Amino acid sequence: MHEATRVLRAGLPEAVQGEPFLPGPTFAATFHLAGDPSSSTYSYGRYHNPTWTRFEQALGELDGGDAVVFPSGMAAISALFSVVLRRGDVLVMPSDGYYTARHLAEDYLQSAGIEVRTLPTSDTVNGEDLRGATLLLLETPSNPGLDVCDVTELAAMAHRHGALVAVDNTTATALGQRPLELGADFSVASDTKALVGHGDVVLGHVAANDSAWTTKLKAWRSRTGAIPGPMEVWLAHRSLATFVVRIEQQCRNALAVAQFLEAHPDVHGVRYPGLPGDRAHGLASRQMRRYGSVVAFSLGDKVRADQFLDSCTIVSQATSFGSVHTTAERRARWGGDSVPEAFIRLSVGCEDVRDLIDDMTKALGE
Ligand SMILES: *Cc1c(COP(=O)(O)O)cnc(C)c1O
Repeated sequence: MHEATRVLRAGLPEAVQGEPFLPGPTFAATFHLAGDPSSSTYSYGRYHNPTWTRFEQALGELDGGDAVVFPSGMAAISALFSVVLRRGDVLVMPSDGYYTARHLAEDYLQSAGIEVRTLPTSDTVNGEDLRGATLLLLETPSNPGLDVCDVTELAAMAHRHGALVAVDNTTATALGQRPLELGADFSVASDTKALVGHGDVVLGHVAANDSAWTTKLKAWRSRTGAIPGPMEVWLAHRSLATFVVRIEQQCRNALAVAQFLEAHPDVHGVRYPGLPGDRAHGLASRQMRRYGSVVAFSLGDKVRADQFLDSCTIVSQATSFGSVHTTAERRARWGGDSVPEAFIRLSVGCEDVRDLIDDMTKALGE
């Protein structure tokens, strides 16, 4: 079966006469349960839910592993840190990746006796960087700078040093690259972004190629009680039916927008891994199957960048990315990333690209 067909059907139950294709969300704290609790698959809503089970099966098919759903991307990352890392361990992570993950590590792991080392995504990693490492977290393409690193090479190097490897796959999604196939032990993602793609649900997951880890991740989820709501999980599963169609359109639009921006005399520093001239293009072409929906660029200074964003009418100002609606923001307004004041992260949606380019042409002219 080809990808679009597989994704469309992922996690759907066998056809049953008179039943829906995707059964609705199961709202249950308690399930009928007499006698030995192990005689039932479902017992209590903090432990499991059939809506999670179906979605996790779908995520597992997409990532090529065993998946566990969490109520947000950060809940997924913190569960991963919590089951893998112990006092005295070493976490190596990107200095230019999603900043909340870095703050989580610096604010909570360091004080729990875990060493946190940060490295830029585009840097050459050597043995010294990985000495004593327990977990190497990669983020490629990195958010927001869109640098790319070689997952296959880094996973092999980390494994030689006895470290586990996780890839934050949020920007690419499983349709853009499959970290477990590239040698990573974990693929972690914020499904809030392009996977759900409608800007209406916060959700995340971890996929692993060893079910011993997903058993631990599920135990962590049950014990901490950080569980996703069935409605959100069902909405996310429903979104998978259009995932390939959305991503195809978003990637096509993103490339056209990146080419438009690159050719504009006022715009500089355009980054998009799909641009033939991008410094990450060669590597991205080897390890990615699609280049994603996010484009980064800079425009003059802070004032000019804000003027541009204020002048756009179809490109909406909002944070986050991956939605069907095109959005953009001046990333430095948050203060968490070391990016120039004029740096704009643009998330390209499913609109007609002619309208997007028209909108930006006018806004750049003002
Ligand atoms: C948004 C994001 C996260 C966090 O996801 P939430 O769903 O907002 O918790 C993690 N990693 C990356 C790369 C992200 O962009």
